[in-house]
Amino acid sequence: MARLDLHMHSTRSDGRHAPAWVVQQAAAQGAELIALSDHDTLAGVEEAREAGKPLSVTVVAAVEVSVIDQALGELHVLGYLPSRDELVNLELKLSEYRNERVGRARRTLELLRDLGAAVEEDAVLRHADGGVIGRPHIARALVDAGHVESVQEAFDRFLHNGGPAFVQRSVLSMEESIELIHGVGGIASLAHPTRYRETEASIESFAAAGGDGIEIYYRNDPPDVVANGERLASRLSLVATGGSDFHGIHPDEMLPATVPIPDHAAGRLLDLMKDLAT
Ligand code: AMP
Ligand code: MN
Ligand code: MN
Ligand code: MN
Repeated sequence: MARLDLHMHSTRSDGRHAPAWVVQQAAAQGAELIALSDHDTLAGVEEAREAGKPLSVTVVAAVEVSVIDQALGELHVLGYLPSRDELVNLELKLSEYRNERVGRARRTLELLRDLGAAVEEDAVLRHADGGVIGRPHIARALVDAGHVESVQEAFDRFLHNGGPAFVQRSVLSMEESIELIHGVGGIASLAHPTRYRETEASIESFAAAGGDGIEIYYRNDPPDVVANGERLASRLSLVATGGSDFHGIHPDEMLPATVPIPDHAAGRLLDLMKDLAT
């Protein structure tokens, strides 16, 4: 069943493992196709592709971007992208968001200092290791400094959306994210809809905005939740995508390419994604 995984992170954003390592893990589970979907960057795709070649794993270029919707809050959108030169335009836009993340991290550190949980900027940069900087890197630095026991506690106490050390960064609107992905010939899928406050409204809104898919086979979502997602996708004519959202951070995470994606969905996704990747 696990022949593909369309949602994974590497050291190029907030994952703990290098792109090649992620691909090798997926291959070890029997995956034939994966998408590396780091936040706001395509920087890991080339390494993943090279690692995939000897293992016969096709790697689709992908990205996860954040969007803000007035009514629905922060949502994430996955873009599955063709392997063509037009990606330059997308890269340019993503680079603006990457730059802004640096200033935002600094503001977060100021808030943390005021809250009595100071961490050094260098410590955060070491965790980011040249990749796209995000809250998880600050969370790890908070663990190192002894302010919290775990990354999750760092989010629960300080960094969650609306939390005492949360700094909003400017992000795309839902329509803009879809336009950006469609502009380079990609496929836009709403990431992990079951994690949002209003799952159904988020999905309906995304479909109305012109989105192509929704991530239905997500981590270990229970069968009734998956079945409900399948019904919604079919009603709204959305492609059902799936993946582990692997970061390699939490001890109980699902490993790459271990999310059960039923054969009918996997077959359809393989066709769609292979078209993009060639
Ligand atoms: P950023 O893109 O810097 O805003 O960070 C977002 C990332 O932080 C997400 O992709 C998750 O990996 C992680 N994250 C966000 N909210 C939480 C939370 N409440 N608990 C744990 N991790 C979270
Ligand atoms: Mn993440
Ligand atoms: Mn996400
Ligand atoms: Mn993700």
